[in-house]
Amino acid sequence: MMQTMTIKSPLDMHLHLRDGDMLRLVAPYSAEEFAGGVIMPNIAPPITTMEALHSYRKRILQACGENLFLPYMTMFLKNYDDAFLEEAAAHVIAMKLYPAGVTTNSEEGAKNIDSLEPQLKAMEALNIPLSIHAETHSHNLFLREQNFLPILEYIAKKFPNLKIIFEHISSKEGLKLVADYENIYATITLHHMTLTVDDLMGEKMNPHLFCKPVVKTEADRDAVLEVALNANPKVMFGSDSAPHSKEAKESALASAGIFSAPALLPKLAEIFEKHGKLENLQKFVSDNARAIYGICPPEKLVLLDKSEYRVPATCKNQKAEVVPLFAGERCSWRVLGVE
Ligand SMILES: [Zn+2]
Repeated sequence: MMQTMTIKSPLDMHLHLRDGDMLRLVAPYSAEEFAGGVIMPNIAPPITTMEALHSYRKRILQACGENLFLPYMTMFLKNYDDAFLEEAAAHVIAMKLYPAGVTTNSEEGAKNIDSLEPQLKAMEALNIPLSIHAETHSHNLFLREQNFLPILEYIAKKFPNLKIIFEHISSKEGLKLVADYENIYATITLHHMTLTVDDLMGEKMNPHLFCKPVVKTEADRDAVLEVALNANPKVMFGSDSAPHSKEAKESALASAGIFSAPALLPKLAEIFEKHGKLENLQKFVSDNARAIYGICPPEKLVLLDKSEYRVPATCKNQKAEVVPLFAGERCSWRVLGVE
């Protein structure tokens, strides 16, 4: 008998949809299969005003077409005043903090956490979660996340009622911090659950697997995979799908970011089944996020069945082309339909 499963309102809690031609190309991949997603604000220029937020939201909904998809908006955290944060609270799911220069379009991010303490205090009072790219700008690429942990710990202690989302967690040391602090939660990507640095450059360098935070050791990958498979209530799925054009990726100075949107649910079902944890997938891709953020997403039933799906080798329209994660590879589950 055909094996099927239904996921109720899957959510992608960390998503880059970009803008313009790229937005129009990539948004449908997420909007077809997910009920909603947390939209990262690092377009150019980054989202820092209410006008920019509303107009970006409109462009996203347009790009999603007929699909039922709720964009949960975020803003780029900077030195806003209390009145602005109070107004923004009704329109954002979180404020995103990028330490300056660590990732795409984050040059305006925080150079110094102290300077943002008034904003963190106001966010704590207003119940606005802090979404954070937890990496320092230090020299050892593989230790940037680990080196950021003292800063995260400082924020968690100083603002005990501030909900902190440790985005795209990639190290076992990071996971320990999530376990130790009640107010720290994390998103987990498909690529940090599946890849190590050997996939990225063990043989030849594959720029399509290059992202920040960079994929790490087997021990880190296995630790991340384990909390995901167990659907630990402190973690939730967030793809960090972050497209760059094929041209920008296949160049001497490749941009950081993995475009995973076309592979997500089929690959997650395959992995959870392989480890005998299919019953935890609903929690990992939806229920945990609802509980952590206290949200009630639109109702959307996504039906999957166990039959072959091939991830597209490339995704393109007339104006843009991107190579997805697991391009051209077979997957043992597919999305059959959506209600
Ligand atoms: Zn991201």
